[in-house]
Amino acid sequence: MHTPHPISQLERSTLVDILKLRLASMEQQSDTKLKNLTQAQHAYQLLQQDMDDAPQRSGEEEVEAALSDIDSLEFSALTQALQRIHGADYGLCVDCHLAITFGRLQLEPQTLRCTACQALYERAH
Ligand SMILES: [Zn+2]
Repeated sequence: MHTPHPISQLERSTLVDILKLRLASMEQQSDTKLKNLTQAQHAYQLLQQDMDDAPQRSGEEEVEAALSDIDSLEFSALTQALQRIHGADYGLCVDCHLAITFGRLQLEPQTLRCTACQALYERAH
């Protein structure tokens, strides 16, 4: 029988759950980061109250700087995986086009490559 997808319906829904959990916990972490940042800014502003001519940085700039670290890369990889997961190519290695094992997908549902191709890719980059 022809199977259109490398992973089963059940495996797919398991991976969707994993992706959603990871995204939720990352959102929580960045909320905490934002709160810490806001407190730091507040303290900084209190210190600067007497220095009216001090240069002002916009709050948005600070927030973006705090979020544009490695976490946001992973966050977008997870978000994209959640979109890709319903496509026919999800679960297939982008390099060798073989099915990525379910065990690997469970550990890294956002992965684009099988273990062998990932090792080659990392050696090349
Ligand atoms: Zn591969």
